[in-house]
Amino acid sequence: MSERVCTACGGSGLTEHELHTIDLDENGHQNPVTHRWTGACSGCAGAGKIHIHE
Ligand SMILES: [Zn+2]
Repeated sequence: MSERVCTACGGSGLTEHELHTIDLDENGHQNPVTHRWTGACSGCAGAGKIHIHE
């Protein structure tokens, strides 16, 4: 078993996440809302590297 730097986050363990939702305002109009945050990489679970099973 060996380790490789996670290519999804470049080894930092953090990536930008983006989520699009549709919110309704008080008049019932739909407003697209984009949520962005920096969080644990989904490729390596925040470890920054991945284990390769060989
Ligand atoms: Zn990663």
